[in-house]
Amino acid sequence: MRKLIAALAILAACTKSQPAQNVRSSILLITLDTTRADAMRPEIAPNFSAIAKRGLLFTQAYTPVPQTLAAHCSMMSGLYPAGHGVHENGRYLSGKIPRLAEQMKSAGFRTAAFISAFSLARRFGLGRGFDVWDEDFGSGRAERNAKETTDRVIQYLARPSSQPLFLWVHYYDPHYPYTPPLPFHGYLGEVSFVDQQMARLMAAFHGAIIIVGDHGEGLGDHGEAQHGNLLYQVTEHVPLLLIGPGVRAGVTHAPVSTRRIFHTIRDWAGLDATHSLRRSEREIVVAEAMKPFLDYGWQPEVMALDGRLKTISAGKIEVYDVIADPQETHNLVGTATISRETRAALQQYPIPTAAEAAAAVTSANDEEARRQLASLGYVASQSRPVVRKDAPRPIDMARLFGPLDEAASLFVSGEYRQVVPILEKILIEDPHNLDAALRLATAESELGHNAKALEAFKHAQAIAPDSPDVQTYLALFYAKGKDWPLAAPLLERVLAQSPDRLPALEALAIVRERQGRIEEAIRLRQKIYTMRTPSPADLVQLGALAMEAGQTNVAIDAFEKTHNDHELELGVLYLAAGRLQEARDALDRVPPGPQYPMALFKRAQVSVLMHEADAPARIASARQHADATTRPLIERERLFR
Ligand SMILES: [Zn+2]
Repeated sequence: MRKLIAALAILAACTKSQPAQNVRSSILLITLDTTRADAMRPEIAPNFSAIAKRGLLFTQAYTPVPQTLAAHCSMMSGLYPAGHGVHENGRYLSGKIPRLAEQMKSAGFRTAAFISAFSLARRFGLGRGFDVWDEDFGSGRAERNAKETTDRVIQYLARPSSQPLFLWVHYYDPHYPYTPPLPFHGYLGEVSFVDQQMARLMAAFHGAIIIVGDHGEGLGDHGEAQHGNLLYQVTEHVPLLLIGPGVRAGVTHAPVSTRRIFHTIRDWAGLDATHSLRRSEREIVVAEAMKPFLDYGWQPEVMALDGRLKTISAGKIEVYDVIADPQETHNLVGTATISRETRAALQQYPIPTAAEAAAAVTSANDEEARRQLASLGYVASQSRPVVRKDAPRPIDMARLFGPLDEAASLFVSGEYRQVVPILEKILIEDPHNLDAALRLATAESELGHNAKALEAFKHAQAIAPDSPDVQTYLALFYAKGKDWPLAAPLLERVLAQSPDRLPALEALAIVRERQGRIEEAIRLRQKIYTMRTPSPADLVQLGALAMEAGQTNVAIDAFEKTHNDHELELGVLYLAAGRLQEARDALDRVPPGPQYPMALFKRAQVSVLMHEADAPARIASARQHADATTRPLIERERLFR
């Protein structure tokens, strides 16, 4: 950690400059999911186009990675994915990466985030440093629309405060499927709907504003319907607008990476102006798309853009003039001159090893620090990634994007029966596809086809013997069945490498419980619930385990958080902890009558201890309605003599 800060300081020292005036106005960051730069035209996004006149519009802004979580991690850390370690969705941002929200909080800002989709949920690590983190999508939903999110933000903004605010609002609507409320329709209709809601938000907010897309959407360009597989303009090129202190209204055509949002907000907060978008500096804009490499075993993809010339390295080199040929139809390789800086950026950008990337986080050690330094300075990372010699280029596999996306969404929504034949077809065309093999194994396991599941897991293990994903999902498979003892060593190995890996923690908590290692099961659950919000059932389970282990305070804490009908448990626990008034109040909330003999018994005990006048009547009632459990307890109870 200290080394990392030192490295940041060295990096900063080269170009150290004065921050924007210490205005301390509030700052609003609006991130527009899945929004193409060319969608923000006046007929589609009239409000954006109108406010753009007040600010600085970037016509050449690029995301460091065309995936939601990874792109936001870059904006919140100022690092490329090679630096923060999150290359795709469903990973966890390491605790060792400094976050913008923490720095804003230390600088005296209130911090609040309103998220519109599960892909950015707190469990993935971006919540740290935010005083308010709102991801309430409603029960059973994984997203909410721009109106729902805006309503919540406006409610929050109505509370008065004299402290400046750092507010992040994320809108998700243009993400597939394209189903905006009427009268809007289609992908562009989603963009228009967000634009309309964004105008409401901006009317309620006073301060500096950044509006930015996290990535675009293929819509069929280069064979890609959605995003994440390729590095062409449709998914890489995003809208970016700044309105704030020290920013002159106008348009700039300088290519910039949206990771510099981190630096710009630090600048506005008066921390440091290094790499702020307020200042123009020549930038070789770099981006990666590692999902096809990490998940399917295809070629890793990196791009570097210098001026108007974009070079993509993905098994072969492609070069495009993005100003003259924004559709990227004329590959200029062999005719255009690639700058020295571009070559260096492409060669030195670290390709993640599969284990590194899947871990997303490793424990604090020198290896981690080295990797951070390497990525900041573009020195190749120490361990060698495995790129299969015969690995296909993602652009040549475009015919599989559709089936892979379809399989992913069927899988996520639990439609396992439908997903199996699609995955089998994918594996015939692409037998080394780890993602497909692993999903097939898990789907078969969910369907109860244990022999087929095991066979598919063996296939996945043959493709990637060291993959923590394979080990985790195989362990989950074992944990469910009679072979559950086989799960423990696999999970221990995964967690030794990446201690914050949530699915592995969840599985190990269940295994430890089955092994009777209750105290470990409790510790694991406590850790899990710092990473994701526990459900009422989770809390009841934790409370029950803590009662079993005699950890009264842990049990009280768990049952208190359920906010529903666990008054009996709470009454018993408060009494055990000597908290008599709370015990009395909780037991009085248990429905009265003979159906809860334990409540009658415990309430009588409390009554005696509190010297209540009706204690004798309560003892009599407890005796009268005693059951097999309470009868011997009542007989032995000295308080009742
Ligand atoms: Zn996104």
